Amino acid sequence: MTLEDRPRSIRVVTLYDDVMNVYADRGNVIALRARAAEHGVEADVTPVSLDDALPADADLVLIGGGQDREQRRIAGHLASHGPQLRDWADEGVAMLAICGGYQLFGQSYRDASGAELPGAGVFDVTTVAPGLGWPRCIGDVLAASAVPGVGEVTGFENHGGRTYLGPTARPFAMVEYGYGNNGDDGTEGATRDEAIGTYLHGSLLPKNPALLDHLIAAALRHREGADSAPLARLPAPYADRAHATAAQVARRRSRRVIRSS
Ligand code: GLN
Repeated sequence: MTLEDRPRSIRVVTLYDDVMNVYADRGNVIALRARAAEHGVEADVTPVSLDDALPADADLVLIGGGQDREQRRIAGHLASHGPQLRDWADEGVAMLAICGGYQLFGQSYRDASGAELPGAGVFDVTTVAPGLGWPRCIGDVLAASAVPGVGEVTGFENHGGRTYLGPTARPFAMVEYGYGNNGDDGTEGATRDEAIGTYLHGSLLPKNPALLDHLIAAALRHREGADSAPLARLPAPYADRAHATAAQVARRRSRRVIRSS
């Protein structure tokens, strides 16, 4: 068997997808399997939920969003996996944490009731929900990703929590339409090595094919090491159309972020 014929696979861990699944975040796993298969890559998915241990290895970790109530259920368990998740992030394991999952991948989240939830500490971000009387950040988002090759990303946000980046966090994207991390500083999400946190639901991956391919490529690099062959450029006509439509909706309906620089 030549190197080219070698079957390629990635080890995917989904965290609490039976608890954390709002706005069809589980659709990210479906899109991932389908797109990986188009690239000739098998996605070997291990669900991890409350009371489960993490597997020994992973190439890609996914977690979706959830309301404060669900976050209170998982926060302690997730935080106990913090050291392993941070080690994986340092090793270049790809990660995608959405909304409530993103908040809990940060240092901490003070929820709308004032409860202080511990975070897994993957991202140097802190989130505070100002309280029930405050408006939530809701709507369609269009943002320019800072991750090379990913370009413009689009999705739907709905969060009370405001997230602030610490000194070592880098934003995942800069908002063009919508709120992003806090509605103030123009940042959206955070990155650490190959880990990405973001407020964008949607599902996100079916309509952001460049991000989906980026995550698959990063997972393959972690799995295969330095000689990992780059992904072929495959067309994604339906995903491209979904992306264009969602971007158009965000431009039409959401507030535009005006930047001075
Ligand atoms: N409970 C969090 C908030 O409202 C996250 C909500 C979500 O994941 N959609 O800020």
